Amino acid sequence: MDLSVCPENKCTGCMACADICPAGAVTVEDMVLCMEARIDEAQCLHCDLCRKVCQNHQPPALKSPLFWKQGWAEDVCVRAGSSSGGSAAAITSRFIGDGGYVCSCVFRGGKFVFDVASSADKAGAFKGSKYVKSSPAGAYRKVKDLLARGEKVLFIALPCQAAAMKNYCRGCDENLYLVDLVCHGSPSPRVLGSFLKEKGADPEVLKDITFRAVDDYPGGEEIKLVPDGIEDYYTRLFMDAVTYTENCYECRYAAFERVSDLTLGDAWGSDLPVEERKKGISLVLCMTPKGQELLDGAGLFLTDVDIDKVKKINKQLCHPAVKGAGREALLKGIAQGKRFDSMFRKLHPSQYCKDRGKMLLHAAGLYKREGLFRRFRVRIVK
Ligand SMILES: Cc1cc2nc3c(=O)[nH]c(=O)nc-3n(C[C@H](O)[C@H](O)[C@H](O)COP(=O)(O)OP(=O)(O)OC[C@H]3O[C@@H](n4cnc5c(N)ncnc54)[C@H](O)[C@@H]3O)c2cc1C
Repeated sequence: MDLSVCPENKCTGCMACADICPAGAVTVEDMVLCMEARIDEAQCLHCDLCRKVCQNHQPPALKSPLFWKQGWAEDVCVRAGSSSGGSAAAITSRFIGDGGYVCSCVFRGGKFVFDVASSADKAGAFKGSKYVKSSPAGAYRKVKDLLARGEKVLFIALPCQAAAMKNYCRGCDENLYLVDLVCHGSPSPRVLGSFLKEKGADPEVLKDITFRAVDDYPGGEEIKLVPDGIEDYYTRLFMDAVTYTENCYECRYAAFERVSDLTLGDAWGSDLPVEERKKGISLVLCMTPKGQELLDGAGLFLTDVDIDKVKKINKQLCHPAVKGAGREALLKGIAQGKRFDSMFRKLHPSQYCKDRGKMLLHAAGLYKREGLFRRFRVRIVK
């Protein structure tokens, strides 16, 4: 008989329970609408470690920010290759330069997984927001082993993953530095897989997938899945909060009080000049002296920000996302293998027709629109 680690619909898919189980009795199943961590009773040793590490059973404390800033990496190349202001990449680079290890998310073998880097070259693969639920399977043990050897480790991840790392390393976290991202919510990788399949792209053979346009992608042939000026359906449904897993809509980390040493996001609502906003501006919330340590000497330009203005736009600093219309039907359809495209048509018939019209005009060379700001869009690199 299988038992669940978490209460129904609460599993974040953080994988900490699977990593800690000494009997390998826990598996996390991606059911598209939700994640579910299951215990195989036949193998279970009844040690309860899975629940002791689980953030639903042991929620780590949240802390109010000591201060908040907006800014960007002073190195123009770092800023240009990143999703917001390049703060994560600048902090990573400094941490590695000081002899530390950084654990964060990369695209490998068709999946968004976690890797540990101790060289600038390897850490380059971390750059960029991946708008999908990543899997830290295996990362917890690696980080704890490094900490046990006396190494300094920086973990950059979604807030639920940072919370899980905090629980996993409880008691040996003196040299652990946690950075989380402001997070709107994250879809199951099966949603992205379904979208890409229909576009004829097999994630396993792709070199990279990017979610926010970087003009002139370095190091590969970047293929646009939709023409400029037309939004792809994966991104539209992500932005409309339709595709996240159940737990995201009740996320305890979608708040101004944070679980990490530092939080990074977009300084939407910033009143800095439009030229700077076009290049991307990071929002930085610092909760602890360790967070301050990460900022010192990271090569960041930081300035004051009106946090009330930012919160009005970046609502996930106040409360979790509200479920977008048609979510259940769409995700059930994806789970059953129905076509992504036809389900989007049912959900947004008028938008679907408008987009088809634009596509036809584009094919005839009559439609071209460049976006003002960095565009949110799925692009693949072969
Ligand atoms: C699913 C998701 C939802 C987000 N929603 C919001 C939002 O609503 N509001 C907001 O202000 N910001 C949001 N962000 C954060 C924003 O997109 C940027 O990632 C953040 O501002 C850092 O930008 P940067 O230029 O400093 O980072 P970069 O230098 O581009 O580095 C990004 C870092 O984040 C890590 N990372 C990226 N994607 C993932 C992932 N899926 N799982 C774990 N780690 C990852 C990378 O490995 C890297 O270390 C979201 C990010 C994600 C992944």
